Amino acid sequence: MNQMLRKIPPVHELLNHPSIQSYMDNHQLISDVVKEHIQSVLESIRQEIQLQKISFQNRDELTNYIVNQSVLSIQQFQSPNIRPVINATGTVLHTNLGRARLPESAVKKVLEVAENYSTLEYDHEKGTRGSRHDLVEDYIKELTGAESAIVVNNNAASVYMVLSAFAKSKETIVSRGELVEIGGSFRVSSIMEESGAILKEIGTTNKTHPYDYEQAINDQTAMLMKVHTSNFHMLGFTKQVSREELVTLGKEHQLMVYEDLGSGMLYDLTSWGIGSEPTIQDVISSGIDLVSFSGDKLLGGPQVGVIAGKKKYIDQLKKHQLARVLRVDKLSYAALEETFKTYFYNRVTVDNPTIRDIVKTKEEILQQVNEVLHTINSNESSLVLKGEELLSQVGGGTLPEVQLESYGISIMHHKHSAEKIHKVLRQMNPPMITRIEHEKVILDFRTISPHDSKVVLQHLEELTKTLSM
Ligand SMILES: *Cc1c(COP(=O)(O)O)cnc(C)c1O
Repeated sequence: MNQMLRKIPPVHELLNHPSIQSYMDNHQLISDVVKEHIQSVLESIRQEIQLQKISFQNRDELTNYIVNQSVLSIQQFQSPNIRPVINATGTVLHTNLGRARLPESAVKKVLEVAENYSTLEYDHEKGTRGSRHDLVEDYIKELTGAESAIVVNNNAASVYMVLSAFAKSKETIVSRGELVEIGGSFRVSSIMEESGAILKEIGTTNKTHPYDYEQAINDQTAMLMKVHTSNFHMLGFTKQVSREELVTLGKEHQLMVYEDLGSGMLYDLTSWGIGSEPTIQDVISSGIDLVSFSGDKLLGGPQVGVIAGKKKYIDQLKKHQLARVLRVDKLSYAALEETFKTYFYNRVTVDNPTIRDIVKTKEEILQQVNEVLHTINSNESSLVLKGEELLSQVGGGTLPEVQLESYGISIMHHKHSAEKIHKVLRQMNPPMITRIEHEKVILDFRTISPHDSKVVLQHLEELTKTLSM
């Protein structure tokens, strides 16, 4: 064993090994990076030799092993960590898969702004310093009817900012029926604690009445807050105080009324019979003081949080120290501007991928499924592929009660489990993410773009080969 350890070549010798040298040359790698990988490979090989997990006949065999492991280690390091995937889960806003895909126009704008200098904080007409707050505010005002708006890092940041700015060390009244947790990491109660606002819970889980608010109001009260229970739907013996009732109460007691709306729907999906989510316009027209929502949920844009509402409050937010802390970068503004613009044209159901996938009809999806099934069936395949009627979800903690009728393909193999098929597909390039239902792998075509059908076909062919090996 010690003999073997002594046969390990020194790092400088390994660095000069022809295989390592040619890999370095081909990839224009600096030697420090390569050295680090060699060193960490040597460390684990030493351990494995000591534990007698591996052994070698001679020095050459050992050296080759080290060289191969080092190259593998560098290759792994070079492969991208964030990369595109095929979302075959049918969940349109999949939080783990990056939520909204950007409209094509937004993607183009991001590239332009990334490559060039831009008017981020420069008014090129007047030749003076401009403000990033002005970049999208007019669009938001026009689309929602709000007097004013500000954009921050995400909607969790919106909530934090509103509470810090207007309710620090004071009480904010929230119904117990609205104290939700979203996505496992956002809890209104935790954000409130962090912001220094004091949570005053009222009512019960299923029922809250206007008198609950009235009884809780005192001279420590700063705000009445409504939280949209985005990912959770209550049925049965329930009563929540409506937005309009809250606005009336706020006026009577001269208290700010703020709603954390979460999803931020601008395009009315109820016109397609989908869900019963209020639009941002509905919320603003109730006379609410402030509303906040995400950029990458039903809006279909980049990750941002938008706070919209009364100008006197938004002006205060723009001057707040947190505006600097939570501010949004130029690439997000570029994407957000173009996302908002999709709503000014009657092509939003075509141009905005989030809206497009949500309203995608069963017939369209079925056609895509049939094209793939038709093509693959003509090949010899050991896979059992079947067209399936499915139900897909909007996701991202939005419209939890909505099930969208969809179509897809189920995959089975006479020798391999659904877990195995799922694993092989997610290790392909690009990875294809599926769901498993009743021991079958399911590809839901709601979230597969027609131009990705070709990749799906290639993946299915590769799957057949991999599973028959
Ligand atoms: C999603 C959501 C949030 C968090 O928004 P992010 O943009 O993910 O930070 C906050 N409140 C509600 C009601 C939500 O639905």
